[in-house]
Amino acid sequence: MIHSYSLIMSSHKRSLSLMLLTGQLVALAAAGPPYCLPGSPCYPSEASWSQFNATVGGRLIKTTPYGAPCYAATYNADECLSLAQNKGKLAFRDSLPAALMYTNWEQTADLSGCPVPDLPTDGSAPPPVNAICTLGGMSNYVVNATGVDDIVASVQWAATFNLRFRIKNTGHCYAGRSAGEGSFSVWTVHMNDAELVDDFVPKATSLAPQTVISAGPGVNVGGLYKFGSDNGVVTIGGFTQTVGASGGYILGGGTGPLGPKFGLGVDNVVQFEVVMADGSRHTVNEALKPDLFWALRGGGGAFAVVTRAYIKTYPAFKTVNTVSGQVVCQDNSSYGEMISVMVDLQVAARNANQTGIWETDPATRGLALVSFATFTGDAETVDQSLAVYHPITIVPGCQPFLATGQFNGSGSWLAAYNNVVPILDAGGTVGLNLFSTSRLISNDLINDPAGREKIKQFIITSPVPTIIQNAVGGATNQVSPDATAVNPGWRNVFAFMDGPIAGPWQGITATQNATLEALSTSQTATFGTAVYYNEQQPANVDWQDSQWGSNYPRLLSIKRKVDPNGVFSCRNCVGSEAGF
Ligand SMILES: Cc1cc2nc3c(=O)[nH]c(=O)nc-3n(C[C@H](O)[C@H](O)[C@H](O)COP(=O)(O)OP(=O)(O)OC[C@H]3O[C@@H](n4cnc5c(N)ncnc54)[C@H](O)[C@@H]3O)c2cc1C
Repeated sequence: MIHSYSLIMSSHKRSLSLMLLTGQLVALAAAGPPYCLPGSPCYPSEASWSQFNATVGGRLIKTTPYGAPCYAATYNADECLSLAQNKGKLAFRDSLPAALMYTNWEQTADLSGCPVPDLPTDGSAPPPVNAICTLGGMSNYVVNATGVDDIVASVQWAATFNLRFRIKNTGHCYAGRSAGEGSFSVWTVHMNDAELVDDFVPKATSLAPQTVISAGPGVNVGGLYKFGSDNGVVTIGGFTQTVGASGGYILGGGTGPLGPKFGLGVDNVVQFEVVMADGSRHTVNEALKPDLFWALRGGGGAFAVVTRAYIKTYPAFKTVNTVSGQVVCQDNSSYGEMISVMVDLQVAARNANQTGIWETDPATRGLALVSFATFTGDAETVDQSLAVYHPITIVPGCQPFLATGQFNGSGSWLAAYNNVVPILDAGGTVGLNLFSTSRLISNDLINDPAGREKIKQFIITSPVPTIIQNAVGGATNQVSPDATAVNPGWRNVFAFMDGPIAGPWQGITATQNATLEALSTSQTATFGTAVYYNEQQPANVDWQDSQWGSNYPRLLSIKRKVDPNGVFSCRNCVGSEAGF
C-alpha cells in the first residue's frame, strides 16, 4: 500500500519531525516488505543517521563485523586468537551488538558473513581466512537502548524509512529472528533493571493483589533467578542463564525446570508495557488491550516492543535437591537399553517430583542429566531423590557418574541452579553453526507403551543428540488451550524434545540441511508436527500451523490491527508471509 505524504504526516507526526530534523527528503516507499535497505535511494544518508544518533543520546552504533581480525585483509593474530578462544562463551556473545548465539544466523543464505574460525588444537592463533568479511545477516545500525525513549525513537525511525527492523535482546533465537541483512536493530539487553512490587494489581483490573517482579526487557534467566533469590521468592525461568527471560523467552512460550510447578512463561505474566508500531506507549493486560495481551503471550516479537514485563512470584522453596551427571555406556546395545529404561522412567520421575533436562549423545553413547526436586515443606533426602534414577544406574554395560546436592533456605533455588547449570553450559554450546528442530511430546504419547516404544526408537536411531526437557506438564496442563497464544498442543504436553544439528564454523552445509530434513521427517512420524516456537529451525514444517496450530488466524488478525504497516517483522513470525 502506498502512503501519501499527508497521510504519513497525520499518522506519524513524531516520525515526520524526525525526518525534518534530518533534513533528508525521503522518497517514501510502500510500508512493509520489501523494506528499505542500505544502498537504496530511500535509505537514510550518513548525515541523517548522525542526526538520529543525537536523538538517542549517542547510543547508535554503526556496526562492523566482529570477526574481521581473523580475515586476511584485516588480520591481527592476537585479536583473532582471543576471538577464537572466546567465541563459545555466552557472556562474550551477549556483549556484542552485532552477534548472535549461533553463527549461521550471522551469515546470509549464500554464506556471506565473517565467522570466526575454530581454535586450532595446538591453541595457536587461527591462520588468516582468505575470504571477504562482511556483516552478513547482522544489522548495519544498532541502538544500544537504555530507556523507553530510545525504543520509541528507534521504532519511529524504522517506520519513517520503512527499514528492516529487528528487536535484538540476547541473540539466543534458534530461528534467527534477531538477524536480518541490512537491518536496523534496537538492542534491549542492557535494559535489565528489576523491581519487586508487593500487592501489585494490573491496571484497570480487579484481580487480587500479588507480588510480582517488574522486569526490564533485558533481564535474563540468571538475573531473574538471582533477583528472586535476593528477595525471598522464586519465579519461572529457563535452563540457560543468558536467555532473555522477559524478552523472546516469555513472548514465545517460556519453558524451564519449574514449568510443571508454575506453568509456562506466558502463564506467569500479568502485565506488559510496550511500544507499539506507531511509537505510542501502552500498558497491556487482561483489561487493557486484551487481544494484544493474548497475542504477546506466545505469539512472539511481531506485535510491539516489550519494555517491561510483570512476572508472578511464588514463596521461596525450603529445600531443593539436585541429581546431575552422566551415564556412559560401552556399546550400542547397552546404550539402547539405557535409553529404553530412561524413557520408561519419565512419568515415574515426574510423579516423584523430579523435573529437568537430559541429553543423549549417540557419538559418546552417553546421557547427561540435570534434575531438580523442590520442597516447600518437609524434604526427602538426596538418597531418596537419587533412588528415582536408580534404574539407569544399573543397566549392564553402562557406568553412572551421578552426583547429588541439597540446598536449603530462601536462596535454595538459585544455589541449586548455579550448582548444576555449568553442566548445561559446558562444552561451548554457543558460538557455533547450529540449528535446532523441536517437537512437543504429548501426554498421550508418553503414557502409551507403543508411544514410548516410538520415542525410544527415535532417540536410539537419531544421528544427532536428543535433548528431552522434562519441564512441561503439571501446571502447564491446567491452563485452558485458548487462554494464551501458544500452540494449544502445549496444554496436553508432558515434555518436549530438541535435536541440535551442528556444522563447521564456515557455515551451513548440504549435509546439515539433509540431516535436518531426515530428522524432521522422523520427528513428525514420532511426535507429530507441533514445535516449540522458541527452539525451532524454520522452514522444515508448515511454520504457521506447527508453531501456533489453531491460534494462528486470530494472531494474524491481531497483527494486522496493531501493526498494519508491518514495522515489526522477523523470520517465521506472525504476518511474515509477505516478507521480513
Ligand atoms: C543456549 C540456549 C538455551 C535456551 N534455553 C531455553 C530454555 O531453557 N527455555 C526456553 O523456553 N527457551 C530456551 N531457549 C530459547 C529461547 O527462549 C529463545 O532463543 C528466545 O528467543 C530467546 O529470547 P531472547 O530475547 O533472549 O533472544 P533474542 O534472539 O535477542 O530475541 C529473539 C526474538 O524475540 C523477540 N524479542 C526479544 N525481545 C523482545 C522485546 N523486548 N519485545 C518484543 N520482542 C522481543 C524478537 O522477535 C527477537 O527477534 C534457549 C536458547 C538457547 C540458544
